[in-house]
Amino acid sequence: MQGGIEEHEQILDELGVEHRRVRRPEHLEGINAMILPGGESTTMSKLLELNEVYEPLRKALDQGLPVFGTCAGMILLATDILDTRPDAKKFSAIDMTVRRNAFGRQVDSFEVDLDVDGIDGPMEAIFIRAPWVEKAGQDVRILATVPTGPAQGMIVAVKQGNALATAFHPECTGEKRIHEMFVRDAQAVGLSAHANGTVTPV
Ligand code: GLN
Repeated sequence: MQGGIEEHEQILDELGVEHRRVRRPEHLEGINAMILPGGESTTMSKLLELNEVYEPLRKALDQGLPVFGTCAGMILLATDILDTRPDAKKFSAIDMTVRRNAFGRQVDSFEVDLDVDGIDGPMEAIFIRAPWVEKAGQDVRILATVPTGPAQGMIVAVKQGNALATAFHPECTGEKRIHEMFVRDAQAVGLSAHANGTVTPV
C-alpha cells in the first residue's frame, strides 16, 4: 500500500524469491506469504480498507498465512495499538500491545546491535520512529530486546504462530538473515491464499 516496499523487494530478489505488490484483493491470489513494510501505519490502515484488501487479508492471516511486519507492519499485526487513531485497523495476528513512536523525539532514529533468537551473531538494527512492544501474551515468542540505553529491555522482535514482526528495519541495513528465516518457515508452512481471503494447502 505504502512505505518501504522496494527495500524488501530487493532482498527478496537477492534471495531468488518471487514477489508481487498487493494493492487489490485479486493480488492475494496464489501468494504463500505476506510482508507488511515500514511506513505509516494509519495511512496503510486507511488504504487497506479503501482498496478492499483489509478484510480478505485479515481472513488469510487468521487462517495462518505467514506474515512478516517491519515497524509500521509490526503495528498492523498487533492486537492493541497505543497512541494511534481510534479507527486504525489492525490484524491482531500477534497477541501484543505496541506503542507507536515509542522511542520519543530525541531518539527518532537510532542503530544498535541486537541479539535475535534464531539468528547467529549480532544484527545491526535500525529504528526509525519505531514502535516497541509494551505487552506480549503468553503465546508470543520474544526474539529480541533492546540491549542498552534508556529503552533497555523493551521488546522489538516477536513471533507468534506464522506471524513475525520487528520494530526495526532489517531491509534497510543489507541484512538478509531474517528474510531468509521467514521464507524458509513460510515454505515449511506451505499455504496459498485466494483473493477472497481463504487459504488452502499448496
Ligand atoms: N511511526 C510509524 C507509524 O506509526 C512507523 C515508522 C516506520 O515504519 N518506520 O506507523
